[in-house]
Amino acid sequence: MPSVRFWILFFLPFWAQGQIVHQPLDGLLAVSGELAELRNHHFHSGVDLRTGAVTGKNIYAVADGWVRRIVIRPDGYGWALYVDHLSGYTSVYAHLESFSPELWAYVLQEAERRNAYRLDLYPAKGSLPVVGGQVIAQSGNSGASGGPHLHFEMRDRESEEIMNPVALGLLIPQPRVRPELWAKQDGRWRKIADSASVNNWYDLALTLPEQGFEVKVSDSLRSIWSLQQWSFDVQRGADAGLALDLHSQQGIRGFHIHPSPSQPAPGWKLKQAWPKSSGTYSLSVNSGGSPIWAGRVRVAQPNPGSTQAPRSMSDGDWSLEFPAQCFGMAQNIIISANGSKIGVKPDVAAIKPVTYSWTPSKLADSLWDKAYLAVRDGRGSAKIPGSLSADGRIVFTSKTCGSAEVRIDTKGPQCELLRRDPSGRVWISVRDELDSEIVEITLNGKWIWGHLDLKSNFMYADAGITKGKLVVWVRDEVGNLTNFTTEL
Ligand SMILES: [Zn+2]
Repeated sequence: MPSVRFWILFFLPFWAQGQIVHQPLDGLLAVSGELAELRNHHFHSGVDLRTGAVTGKNIYAVADGWVRRIVIRPDGYGWALYVDHLSGYTSVYAHLESFSPELWAYVLQEAERRNAYRLDLYPAKGSLPVVGGQVIAQSGNSGASGGPHLHFEMRDRESEEIMNPVALGLLIPQPRVRPELWAKQDGRWRKIADSASVNNWYDLALTLPEQGFEVKVSDSLRSIWSLQQWSFDVQRGADAGLALDLHSQQGIRGFHIHPSPSQPAPGWKLKQAWPKSSGTYSLSVNSGGSPIWAGRVRVAQPNPGSTQAPRSMSDGDWSLEFPAQCFGMAQNIIISANGSKIGVKPDVAAIKPVTYSWTPSKLADSLWDKAYLAVRDGRGSAKIPGSLSADGRIVFTSKTCGSAEVRIDTKGPQCELLRRDPSGRVWISVRDELDSEIVEITLNGKWIWGHLDLKSNFMYADAGITKGKLVVWVRDEVGNLTNFTTEL
C-alpha cells in the first residue's frame, strides 16, 4: 500500500480546490464497505469507515459549509447529517450516535415544537455554519447499521447525484475487490480464464469494480457502465443489471456485461449495438483505464432478451399485478394460491413494485386493516402492511417478489423496562412482529425526548434526574397502540 505521504501529495491538488480539506475521522481511515457495493435493491451510495467496533468517535466536517439537513429515524440512516459546501458538494454522515451541542440544541427545540421523534429538518440556509475540521457529531450504530461505523457520502449539491469521495479527497486505500469475469455454462456460473462458450450475452457477468467498466466486442466499444457519479434512479435500478443467479449460486455480486433489455436506469451507455448472430467473438473488459479480461467467447443465441409487457395473474383469493419491465430479464412467473398463502416462482427481485391483492373469503370486518404481507425472495424478506381498496381488496405493494402469506397483527408492541442510566436515560425494550414507532413520551405530563432503534428493539427516554410518572405510547405499522407507564 502506498505511504500516507504519497496519498497526501497525490491529493494535494484536490485539497487546494476546497473539497475534502479534513478527513471525517481521526487516524488512518479503514474501509468496511466499498462505494457502489451491491446491496439488496440498491447500490451502496457511500463508503463505510471503521470506528474500531465502538461508537462515540468524533466526526469532523470535511470542509467549511453549513448544515443542510438533519435526519433522525429508527431505520435507514438513523441519525444523519448533510453538510453543504461552497465547492458545490454535500457531505453526508450517517448512523451517528449524537450531534454536537449546538446542533443538538436546535434539533431538540424542533422536536419539542413538533412533538416528533422522527425528524427530517432543513435549517434555514447558513443558520448552522460549520468549519472544516469542526466536530459535528459522534459516530454510532443507529438506523439500519450492521455494527458501529461511519457511513460517509459525497453528493453533488444541486442534483444530489452520488460522487466518488476518493476523487474529492477522501484518503482511503484502493478497493479490495478485484474484478473477475464469470460465465454461465450448463446452468452453473464459473470464473473464466481466457475463453468461454455461453448461450447468450447475458450469461457473462463481471464482479463490480468501484470505477465501473467498459466492454469491447471485436475491438469496438459496445457499452460503458459508469459509477463515478450516479443518480437515485440508477441506485434504484441496481438490480436490473445484476446476475441474480450468480449471487444465489456463488454468493458473488456481479453485473451482466450486456445491458439487460429492461434496464431502466441511465447507468449504462450503449455505444454500439451488440452482435445479434451466433459466433465466436473477441471480448475485452476494461476498468479504470486498465484491462481486466480479454479472450474469446463463443455465443450460441446472442439475443434472447425481450421486453416485458404488464401482466396480471389470479388464483384463488389472490391477484398479482406485474408492471411492464418489472424484472431485469424476462421471467416465466407461476403462481399458486392456498387460502392466505400464495406461491410465486421464480423468487427473483423485482425492479418495479409488484402489487399483491388479497380478497379474503372469510375475515372479520375488524381485522381487514390489521393485515400484513410476509414475503420472501432470493435476496431477502419483507413485511408489508396492507391498505384497503375501494373495491374490497387488501392491497400490498412490494419489490420483494416471491412466495408470501397474509398475517394478522392485533397486538400492540410489548414494552419492558430494562434499566435507568446514571444520566437518567431510561431504556425500554419494544417488541412487535412489525416495525414500531414512538407516538409520545411524557414525564409528569410534560413532553420529553426519546429514540427507538428498530434493529435492536430498544428505545430510550431522556427523563433526566426528575422523579415521577413516565408514560410512553408506541404504535406498530398496522396501528396497534401500546401504553407503557412506570413510576421513576
Ligand atoms: Zn454504508
